[in-house]
Amino acid sequence: MIHITLPDGSVKAFDQGVTPMDVAKSISEGLARNVISAKFNGTKVETVTPLTTDGSLVLYTWKDDEGKEAFWHSSAHVLAQALEELYPGAKLTIGPAIENGFYYDVDFGAHTISEKDFKTIEDKMLEIARGKHDFKMRSVGKAEALDLYKDNAFKTELIENLEDGTITFCDHSTFTDLCRGGHIPNTGIIKAVKVLSVAGAYWRGDENKPQLTRVYGISFPKQKDLTEYLELLEEAKKRDHRKLGKELELFTFSQKVGQGLPLWLPKGAALRERLENFLKAAQKKAGYDMVVTPHIGQKELYVTSGHFAKYGEDSFQPIHTPKEDEAFLLKPMNCPHHCEIYKNSQWSYKDLPIRYAEFGTVYRYEQSGELHGLTRVRGFTQDDAHLFCTPDQLDKEFKDVIDLVLYVFGALGFDNFTAQVSVRDPENPDKYIGDVSNWEKAEQAIINAASDKGLDFIIETGEAAFYGPKLDFMVKDALGRRWQLGTIQVDYNLPERFDLTYKGSDNDMHRPVMIHRAPFGSMERFVALLLEHTGGNFPIWLMPVQVKILSLSEKYEKYAEKVLNLLENHEIRALVDHRNETIGKKIREAEMQKYPYMLIIGEQEENQGKVTVRKHGGEDLGMMVIEDFAAIIEEEIGKTLKSF
Ligand SMILES: [Zn+2]
Ligand SMILES: [Zn+2]
Repeated sequence: MIHITLPDGSVKAFDQGVTPMDVAKSISEGLARNVISAKFNGTKVETVTPLTTDGSLVLYTWKDDEGKEAFWHSSAHVLAQALEELYPGAKLTIGPAIENGFYYDVDFGAHTISEKDFKTIEDKMLEIARGKHDFKMRSVGKAEALDLYKDNAFKTELIENLEDGTITFCDHSTFTDLCRGGHIPNTGIIKAVKVLSVAGAYWRGDENKPQLTRVYGISFPKQKDLTEYLELLEEAKKRDHRKLGKELELFTFSQKVGQGLPLWLPKGAALRERLENFLKAAQKKAGYDMVVTPHIGQKELYVTSGHFAKYGEDSFQPIHTPKEDEAFLLKPMNCPHHCEIYKNSQWSYKDLPIRYAEFGTVYRYEQSGELHGLTRVRGFTQDDAHLFCTPDQLDKEFKDVIDLVLYVFGALGFDNFTAQVSVRDPENPDKYIGDVSNWEKAEQAIINAASDKGLDFIIETGEAAFYGPKLDFMVKDALGRRWQLGTIQVDYNLPERFDLTYKGSDNDMHRPVMIHRAPFGSMERFVALLLEHTGGNFPIWLMPVQVKILSLSEKYEKYAEKVLNLLENHEIRALVDHRNETIGKKIREAEMQKYPYMLIIGEQEENQGKVTVRKHGGEDLGMMVIEDFAAIIEEEIGKTLKSF
């Protein structure tokens, strides 16, 4: 008999050789129908793998990330089989599951695959799936494996890097592939497939190596799931921040200025300024001081900070001056500059914490292929701040920073998020800088702060940076995609490297603890995220223009101006559309521009001293006086924008 521990802590006895699927059946038939993958003692196993020792078993269904991974990994095998059958001579390389679906990199030789082939590939995949073929793992000796792939240099390279005795293949139907395992029971569970796209990809990501074709696909256990996914993709396309940024005239790029260097248009700049002012006001209340530092720094500064070693290769080339041996770098991070500001004064424990904030623009060289709209750029502005405190103050400072991050999320409509606390790997103490008791204190401070604030968080052991533990937020946007946002990082490294000190109550000199934090991350990426989350319908307090006044004709120009003045008295941001156009056209354009409210003005409105209010999306609120309209806006603002 062996003893299997289940996630709820219960222990069950089974005959040796029991499979995860047998265990599922012993729990319930319903579970057995839905189980598609399993982990035994933390390692992926097949649902048909015989278990021979005591251990803990987790069973996964489609609802779990692990279940999806097995599903998509197995689907990649089906895709590979379909491609091999449809395109004889195609050489398979690697094909993993990814966050949404899977891909396979293939050398098609002279053949090219395009969108018109997708349907044929899908049909072939479904035909294979319907065969309900079991996925079966087997061990293969290295010599045999190499012989099997003697015509495929890619697989040969993979196999050559594996040790004899560890090589496994997976068979299903008439197809076989080099594979480490982790499959669903059989192909019949795959009910819906879609080939999404093809792209070029270099073997092993190396541009000096052969170019392959990457075929992306996704699959589901139900047709309905695929339909929903495709709808979501359609919506994501509509909400693509690059498209919305253009339509709403927020930002642009110029080949002449350079790739990855965004140019903010007036409306985008106004939006950014509003975001900055919003955070500045909260930071002021939280006791931060604003500082300003230059865009470049001496190379030596970044050698001291360690950033040169880290970003040296990726960073921009040094800026040389007529002086020999003098070199500056575009700053990749604001932290070193802030450390030098801290060093400008002598501090006592009574002065701490010190909190320096800056909307600091930093530059990092990204490969042109990596650039993407505002999310991957070469120059971006961080809403950066660095806090310097005593180890005893860390607890409170961390909680206060969490409050600030949650305040930002609340005001911008991100209400679906989780958190992750990254701590040391206690097995590898040499990997980390700083003394152990301080690390313990900091990790405990973060965990306490996270639970005190009622965050839904997990603790990831071994995920801390070498210089300190951290807390990350994972925000889910309106389309269900996850973004990392609002990292709060403890740092023992920079205070050491810059020899930062304060005088303690014992009159000795001590090292402060440093906290890095940026609730938005960067203005560029945050605006991109906000655009895709809201589809451009930002919370009204943030809208550069909240109201568009649409006059029925030029006759009402004077009255429109009067309305505009009244709105300005209420600090409502409005514009007038005076053009000699039909009201229908004006409304359509205002809808496109996503103005939250439109005020329509004609004879009736002027005679009664009122406006007709139309909400974005078409809701008609009727005629009212400006005071009543202002009250509606103020109430709507109050719903999201609370005071900090
Ligand atoms: Zn596999
Ligand atoms: Zn920093």
